[in-house]
Amino acid sequence: MQIYVPELKQKQGEAVGYCFEEDLASKLSEFPEGGRLKLFISASLNGDQLLVNGTLEGFTAASCSRCLENFEQHFTTEFTEIFTVLKNAPVESNRLSESLETANLLSVSGDYLYLDEYARQLIVLAQEYKPICTPECKGLCYGCGEDLNKTCCRCSSETENIDLRLLKLKELELGKTV
Ligand SMILES: [Zn+2]
Ligand SMILES: [Zn+2]
Repeated sequence: MQIYVPELKQKQGEAVGYCFEEDLASKLSEFPEGGRLKLFISASLNGDQLLVNGTLEGFTAASCSRCLENFEQHFTTEFTEIFTVLKNAPVESNRLSESLETANLLSVSGDYLYLDEYARQLIVLAQEYKPICTPECKGLCYGCGEDLNKTCCRCSSETENIDLRLLKLKELELGKTV
C-alpha cells in the first residue's frame, strides 16, 4: 500500500482518492490467522505537508475471550494524518535526515508514502483487548468447561455451590440478629 508522491505534487493541493484492499495474513506478520482490510484514502499535498485522511475497515481472525471460539473481529476506524515530505538530502547530511526519520515516523523520504506500517498501527489500536464473539456469548462453564452457547451442562442444576453460599449468608444474618 503506497502513495506515489510525485503524482500529488503535480496536482498540488488537490485531493486524490485511493483505495487499497489487502489480505492481512500475507501483508502484516501480526495477523497470521488472517483477515482483510480495506483502506479508503484521500490525500493531498500542500508544500511539504501531505494530508491524508480516510477510513480503514476490515476484520481480523480472533478467538473469543469467553468461549474461545474463533470468529471474525470487525473494525472500522477513521483517521487524519499529516506526513512531512522530506527533501532529498545532500550526501553529507544523510545522517541527520536518518535520525529525523527515526524520530518522526510521520515523514516521507523518496517518492513513496508507504502505508503498511501506519495501517498496522491503526489495526492494532482498533483491536479489542478482550474480544467477544457476540455480546450475548455465555462463555465456558467454570465447572466442566463446556461451551454454554452450544450445550446446557449439568453444573447449573447442581446447586451445591449456591447452597454453601446461602448457608454462609444465613450464618451472617443470624450473627446480626443475635
Ligand atoms: Zn464467545
Ligand atoms: Zn458445567
